[in-house]
Amino acid sequence: MMDSQQVRQLLAVVIAYDNRKLADANILAWTEAARRGRWTLAEAVDAVHEHYASQSVWLMPGHVSATIRARRQDLAQREQAGYQIAAAAEVRELVAGVGRHVDDVAEHEPAPVPSKWRSACPHCHAGPGAPCVRPSRDAAPVALANVHPSRLNVAAS
Ligand SMILES: [Zn+2]
Repeated sequence: MMDSQQVRQLLAVVIAYDNRKLADANILAWTEAARRGRWTLAEAVDAVHEHYASQSVWLMPGHVSATIRARRQDLAQREQAGYQIAAAAEVRELVAGVGRHVDDVAEHEPAPVPSKWRSACPHCHAGPGAPCVRPSRDAAPVALANVHPSRLNVAAS
């Protein structure tokens, strides 16, 4: 949003082109137009240059508003297009990643059962292929990393 100081800066640019004489009422009118059009100083100055670079019509606040509006729409469309391109690239990447993942999984054989687990454990009665367990007071039995010595003897025999 532009304050009256910025409106004066803007009108200095306008005067450079058309030598208009400004009264306080003009400054108030332009300030109001800036407020309604939500101009920024940079956008408005650019719109003034754009206007006088391309046409010889006496500049009115409506010209500035229209130019700023067109710029913003153009920018929004470019951004939208940018997002879409980025989103499409991201999807392609994801899809490629999914493909790789499936290949990885397909190449992997199921992990072999450790030989120490081939037979059932005579101590804790863990079945073949299952780890030895130790009973737990308040929860399910806890799997052990090692096997009971008696199970090793069975495996060895
Ligand atoms: Zn066991």
